[in-house]
Amino acid sequence: MTKAVGNIYIVVAPSGAGKTSLVAALLQAEPTVELSISYTTRHARSGEVDGQHYHFVGHAEFQAMIEGQDFLEYAEVYGNFYGTSVRWLQSRLEQGRDILLEIDWQGAEQVRKVFPEAIGIFILPPSIEELERRLRGRGTDSEEVILRRLASARSEIDKVAEYDYIVVNDDFERAKGDLVSIFRARRLRAAVQTLRLAPALARMGVQHD
Ligand code: 5GP
Repeated sequence: MTKAVGNIYIVVAPSGAGKTSLVAALLQAEPTVELSISYTTRHARSGEVDGQHYHFVGHAEFQAMIEGQDFLEYAEVYGNFYGTSVRWLQSRLEQGRDILLEIDWQGAEQVRKVFPEAIGIFILPPSIEELERRLRGRGTDSEEVILRRLASARSEIDKVAEYDYIVVNDDFERAKGDLVSIFRARRLRAAVQTLRLAPALARMGVQHD
């Protein structure tokens, strides 16, 4: 694999932590960040658009993609398969784009084996009790599913120290601000800024190689 130019950001959260809404708000605030559209065998929920929320594919197609080594990572989550296209990701990175992967913890582990420099962000609910309240409040899941998601949440939260950043989603606006600030701060690093500001710095007499 050729050396990547852009950054990979991986956002992981237990189900019910509010990841999807936070990521949507982040993409609006930071339009240069591009979301990777995953492939999934899950059926589209109402309102979901093929090619926009996911590429919805059948099991046979997903299997063929695994065999064709089309995935940077893939995982089974709650009975459905999800995967990230390696070709799309590589081409966007080569163009210097910052890519956001909204994937589960298993996928995050696989991506970090290939791209150890990928930036891991964990969205943490304020408490397990609050997570349970939010899962029940959705009114979409059976008791069995809720209990399964809570058990998974505990083991996912166990791995929180493996991430580079932790954003607590207690107050949405504050959590959004925290998430956005991670991207802004990384873009303000001297290594990035000296390249972006090279002409201005040259006019100030700064030589940079
Ligand atoms: P949902 O079905 O609710 O959209 O997503 C279920 C879980 O699968 C979420 O945690 C989501 O982040 C994860 N997921 C979505 N796309 C991918 C992917 O490409 N790879 C992996 N490993 N997980 C994914």
